Parts: sequence; C-alpha cells; structure tokens
Amino acid sequence: MKRHEVLIVGAGLAGQRAALEALRLGAEVAIVSKVMPVRSHSVAAAGGINAALNEKDSWKDHAYDTIYGSDFLADQDAVEVLCREAKRNVLELESLGVVFSRNRDGSIAQRAFGGQRFNRTCYAADRTGHALLHTLYDQLMKFRPVIYAEHYGLELIMEKNACKGLVVYDLASGNIERIYAKAVLLATGGYGRAFSVTSNGHANTGDGLALALHAGLPLEDMEFVQFHPTGIYGKGHLVSEASRGEGAHLLNGKNERFMKRYAMHAMELASRDIVSRAIQTEISNGNGAGPRKDHVFLDLRHLGEKKILERLPEVRRSVLDALGIDVARELVPVIPTAHYSMGGIPTDVRTRVVLNERNTPVKGLYAAGECACLSVHGGNRLGGNSLLETLVFGRMAGKEMASFVKNQTWPAPRAKHENHAQKRVHALLKGRGKCNPYDTRRNIQRLMMRHCGVFRNERGLRALQRRLRACKVESFKWNIGDTSTQFNTALAEALETQNMLDFSFAIVESALARQESRGSHYRTDFPMRNDAIWLKHSLAWLVKGRIEVGYKPVVIRRIKPVERRY
Ligand SMILES: Cc1cc2nc3c(=O)[nH]c(=O)nc-3n(C[C@H](O)[C@H](O)[C@H](O)COP(=O)(O)OP(=O)(O)OC[C@H]3O[C@@H](n4cnc5c(N)ncnc54)[C@H](O)[C@@H]3O)c2cc1C
Repeated sequence: MKRHEVLIVGAGLAGQRAALEALRLGAEVAIVSKVMPVRSHSVAAAGGINAALNEKDSWKDHAYDTIYGSDFLADQDAVEVLCREAKRNVLELESLGVVFSRNRDGSIAQRAFGGQRFNRTCYAADRTGHALLHTLYDQLMKFRPVIYAEHYGLELIMEKNACKGLVVYDLASGNIERIYAKAVLLATGGYGRAFSVTSNGHANTGDGLALALHAGLPLEDMEFVQFHPTGIYGKGHLVSEASRGEGAHLLNGKNERFMKRYAMHAMELASRDIVSRAIQTEISNGNGAGPRKDHVFLDLRHLGEKKILERLPEVRRSVLDALGIDVARELVPVIPTAHYSMGGIPTDVRTRVVLNERNTPVKGLYAAGECACLSVHGGNRLGGNSLLETLVFGRMAGKEMASFVKNQTWPAPRAKHENHAQKRVHALLKGRGKCNPYDTRRNIQRLMMRHCGVFRNERGLRALQRRLRACKVESFKWNIGDTSTQFNTALAEALETQNMLDFSFAIVESALARQESRGSHYRTDFPMRNDAIWLKHSLAWLVKGRIEVGYKPVVIRRIKPVERRY
C-alpha cells in the first residue's frame, strides 16, 4: 500500500502540467502512466496551439470562433477561461524553453487553422506536441516526483462520492496495488482506438472514461467524436491540419477543389466536421479518387519543397514512410480518421469531476485534458485548442488539488478496496473460453467505424447496439492466451478492450438519443440542428450493465446561437 497527497493518472501534457503546478505550490505528487511519460500521445501533436498573441487579435475573438465552431454546445464560461488564459500559458512555455517557430522579428510565428478568423496557431514546425511535452518533462524532473511508469490504472477507490485513490496493475511485476491519495486527477487522454481508422496512438483506449463509468459517474457528450479530414488513406495516420493551414488543397477524383460546394469562403479551412462530411459526401456521390473511388487527395505540391521542409517536415516524413509518396511532388490520398473525443468525464470550470445534472462535485476527484469534458469544445473542436486545453486546465487542476489537499486527512486503507480489481484480473487470467480479445477488439473498431462514423442513422446505430452486445457476451468467453506475470501485454490489452466496449455503449446510446445534427454528430435521419430541444449536454451512466442517458443545460453567456456557415 502506498500513499501520496496528489495522484495524477496520465503523463501527457495535461497530467504533466498539473503535476508541475501542484509541485510548485508545495504538494507532494506522484504520477501513474501506463506508458513511459514522454510516449504519451501529446508527443504526436503536430500543427500547433492557439493563443491570441497579436495585438490585432483578441481572446474574445478566439472565444467567439471556439463557440461558433462548437456548434454552440460549448459552455461559454469555460471557453472564456480557455481563451483568456491562452496567452499567459503559451508565453510561459516559451520562457521554459519551447522552441517555437519564429517570425523574422523574433516573435512566435502563427499559422492559419480551420474555423478561425485570425492566424493564431503557434507552432514548432509540425512537431509542436513534441516540443511542449519534452520541455515540460525537463521542468518536472527538477522536482523529482514519484513516477509509476508502466502501471495500469484499474479502478478508482471510491467511498460515498469521494475519491480516495487508485488500484493499479504493475505491468513489470504483475502485482496489483492500492495507491491512496488525498486528490486524484484523471488525465488519461482520448479513445480514438475504439475506431478502425484513427490517428491515435495505441495507448489511446479511453481507460480513464471507463474508470469513471465503473465508479458510477456519468460521461458527457459522448456522441461527439471528431473525425479529422485528412488521415493517410489505408492507414489513418494524421496529415496535420498545418498542411491546409500552409495552403494545401483538397481535390476529388475529378481533380476539382470540391470544398467550394460546402464552405465557399473558408474552403479547406472550414471546421473539421464540415470538411470531413464534405469528403465523405464526395466519396458517396461517386467523386472519390482511385480505382475504388474511396478517398480524395491532399495537394501540397504548389507549396514548394523549401516551405515543406521548413514548416511541414513531419508531414513529409510520415507520408513518405507510410506510402512512399513525396508530398512535394505527388498527391496524397486521404480519408477522414477518428481523431479526438469532445466528450468525456464531466467537470466544472475548476476541473472538479461532477456526478450529476446539478454539477455536484465528487470530493477529491479531478479531470483535465482530452479525457475531460468541461466543455470547451462542445460539438466540434477547433484544431489547436486541445493542446491549449491541456495546459490551461492542467495547470488549474494542479492549483486546485494543491489547495484542496492542505485540509484533508489521509484515507483509511482497507484491503477490500482492491477486491473487485483482483477479481477482474483473475477472471481474465483464468478464462479458458473459445474467444480471444483481439478478435473482439477488431470487431468493435470495425463496427464503430461503420455505424458511428462521420454519418449516423437510427438503423445503423441499432445494428451497432445489437452487435456490441454480442461482443460483450463474447468477452465473457475469452481466453487471453498468456498467464505470465511479467509484462503480460495480452492482459493489458484485454482490460483495454473491456473498457472500450463499455464506453462505446455510452457513445452509441447518446448518439441514438440525440435526434438532431450538431457539430460532429450528424444524423442522416435528423439532418437539422434543433436548439429548441437539443441545446443541452448528454450525460450517460452505466447502471446495472445498461446505459442510462440524462441531460444538463449548456452555459450560454454573451454569444447567442446562430446558424453556422463557413
Ligand atoms: C496525431 C495527433 C496530432 C494532434 N495534433 C494536435 C495539434 O496540433 N494541436 C492540438 O491542439 N491538438 C492536437 N492533437 C490532440 C492533442 O494532442 C491531444 O488531445 C492532447 O495532447 C491530449 O493530451 P492529454 O494529456 O489529455 O492525454 P495524452 O497525451 O494522450 O496522455 C494520456 C496519458 O494517460 C495515460 N493513461 C491512459 N490510460 C491509463 C491507465 N489505464 N493507467 C495509467 N495511465 C493511463 C497514458 O499513459 C498517457 O500518459 C493531436 C492528436 C493526435 C492524435
């Protein structure tokens, strides 16, 4: 049994920023991460981070673009904090050593990004996440926090709506342990891996969402899954929006810049939901490219080799690695790819996890970064706002926790706190059925992609519901094939697959219930946005093996909902 004042689950940008803040304020901090900290998915972020730095820009314009982009589902109080705090947070990271790309006068360079009326995306070539995460890690190391790397969070320790710690599985030893804490932060990132075509790293399996769901807490707005328009065809890896920000065009199989039909003014730089739907529509209408007419092209050739090497070196390298194509000379085949989860663990603006429609906080439990739903992105996130969210709200979580733990006593340890997690692991190790978790995982991914992608409808979602239930039945008949105690990755992947299945039900049920189209959630059977009924957040609870859906209001301040056009 171990204990720490502050326990942070996740070592991406949100977790590390929170840790740094709590440590600076004198709290004692430990971090749990299932991967080595600097391998967290934040390291892969490419295109940049938004902040109104220029004197002609303002945080209010940034807030407007964010709320408009969210299709008015974002909570405006949270968006105000995000945008007001942006400049300070980006400049702080600069002073800590992040090597941002520069203008000639030495100021931080900013590029155009989708859905924004000003060039406000700061970048370090197309390796922004790498630059941010490594700088933050250096700073963190000065404080020498305890880091439980390659420890897998299995279950939250909860007592009467208060969080007391986490049960973990140590991948190296195979031991199950309790780590008690006065405050716990969930910073476990996204869940793109629940889809067969995704830009996300292998670790992005949404475990934190399952930790919340299994603790009886709701998940918010799970139907809103962002598909990034330009995943590499056949792979899903991202071609960063930075390429379109720098001027790349989209072409269909007839060599047409088709975006003029969907977003006359913004063209390729309309918001991601709109560009992804445009691509999918072109493909459905028979205007796709290639022998199967199942993709479109991204054209960077006119940008020239010099600009590509200077601003988009990773885009060039990754497309070359994946397809052997040089973007400076050839067209890149692309398709929409599952990229980001707008929904997640509901929190208030102070990052405290809430347990119901009335925003009652859970004592000692916080969430930040992609796993959290504040909600600053509403129905659709703007590129560059997620890195910003991890810093602004990671920092806030660190501050909140450091102050909260001051007046708290240590939780009383009890052996029974790990009983349930022990049973779950042993059942997987002992299973001798005829099914295997890898097949189930592949099934879930294919089904989610097919029925819960860029376009959805009731028929598809009902079919998905039935087939996910069959996957659930299958999961009771698994034989994971490896019973070793050291680095049992089969066990870890089985646990992840169980988690994926549980939150996928929350996505499907929330998507079925929402009979309108808003942001990334597009129902072909309900193609209009309907503010009279649906200007509200969904909440999904897991109750006795079934998902129950409820709602809470959206926080509207200065900006009234209007129809969205780009
Ligand atoms: C390819 C790509 C490019 C992107 N580019 C941009 C961009 O240019 N601009 C932008 O704003 N956004 C971008 N995004 C989105 C952005 O990078 C992420 O939303 C953000 O970095 C998430 O940070 P995080 O700290 O919340 O989570 P992550 O960085 O994903 O970290 C999650 C952490 O949780 C830990 N964890 C998870 N489950 C468990 C468990 N069960 N037990 C223990 N630990 C666990 C992991 O080990 C990891 O340390 C991009 C995303 C991708 C995939």
